[in-house]
Amino acid sequence: MPEKKIIVAIDGHSSCGKSTMAKWLAKEVGYIYVDTGAMYRTVTLFALRNKFITQEGIDEEGLKASLKDVEVSFQLDPETNLPLACLNGEVVEKEIRLMEVSNNVSPIAALPFVREKLTREQQFMGEAKGIVMDGRDIGTAVFPQAELKIFVTASAQVRAQRRYDELVGKGEKNLDFDEILRNVEERDYIDSHREMNPLRQAEDALVLDNSNLTKDEQNAWLLSQFKKRTEA
Ligand code: C5P
Repeated sequence: MPEKKIIVAIDGHSSCGKSTMAKWLAKEVGYIYVDTGAMYRTVTLFALRNKFITQEGIDEEGLKASLKDVEVSFQLDPETNLPLACLNGEVVEKEIRLMEVSNNVSPIAALPFVREKLTREQQFMGEAKGIVMDGRDIGTAVFPQAELKIFVTASAQVRAQRRYDELVGKGEKNLDFDEILRNVEERDYIDSHREMNPLRQAEDALVLDNSNLTKDEQNAWLLSQFKKRTEA
């Protein structure tokens, strides 16, 4: 009998390794991986490019009126087989990871009309199941019926250290650890306190604090939870 296909929702705080584990699981079990943070980042890039974000703040009306012209999609990278975020057909995977986008994404993601559009698209992507989706509100708002929900966390110190190491690995110099720590804490605050679909743990989510876990330990735990849901 073929295994039943499920929806895996992975939510949690910034920089806690959600996407690394989501990508790993999707590859391991042959599911589609969707990075919903990339979708919010892509809309933020559109808003920056079109000057809807300025020193004065966000031009909400302008962005709302233009949003119908924004198509967020993914293309598979032929080399890595991983999805690359696209804005109106243009691959923008690199641009959406830039600091300017990171610094503006949480206020854009708090706008209800942005959330409504992207939530609808995410629900459509998961209609056929067989999907691993990571974000902040997947288990609570996008797929409250997901068969497997994981809420990942780690201390802010540990997450800031991981982000620091990642940036060092990318060749960034003159990094200030305290600034990175403040950044992580600020995004957590905005994401948890916005009105619409704030970051919170779904009641039926399994909590994974990975502060002291190796990647292998984490992956083994994840796969065992996946098997429990699909082989039952
Ligand atoms: O996951 P990542 O850090 O790339 O997400 C960027 C930002 O997008 C988050 O800080 C959050 O503000 C927003 N986001 C969200 N809901 C999601 C995924 C991301 O609000 N489902």
